[in-house]
Amino acid sequence: MSSGKEFKACPRCGSLRIRAPSLREGGIPGTSEIAGIYYCEKCRKKIVPVVFDDEKQYKKFLKEGDKALNF
Ligand SMILES: [Zn+2]
Repeated sequence: MSSGKEFKACPRCGSLRIRAPSLREGGIPGTSEIAGIYYCEKCRKKIVPVVFDDEKQYKKFLKEGDKALNF
């Protein structure tokens, strides 16, 4: 089995469309990845992603949704 198929998702909306924030978005280039801070393109917010080992976990998360994630 090969690794690297990691799912990182936004804890607010579950979107996988997250990336390191740009300077304009309040990110500090090079440090966001280290700090684990990402930017969700859907929420347009900085978020700390939830990491899943596989798609199954991710799907489960989507299904259980907001119950588990009360911010
Ligand atoms: Zn989001």
